[in-house]
Amino acid sequence: MTERATPFYCPFCGDEDLRPVEEEHGWLCGACRRVFTVSFLGIRLPEGAK
Ligand SMILES: [Zn+2]
Repeated sequence: MTERATPFYCPFCGDEDLRPVEEEHGWLCGACRRVFTVSFLGIRLPEGAK
């Protein structure tokens, strides 16, 4: 899987103004200026799920 995960909201301030940052393969939030990446770790059921 080469396609990176696409966030819809900034995890820090919740803004939707996200722009791709090619150098870091991450995202820049236009509101709080934070640069971050999103990693897909896997799929699991919640604790206690049947
Ligand atoms: Zn933000």
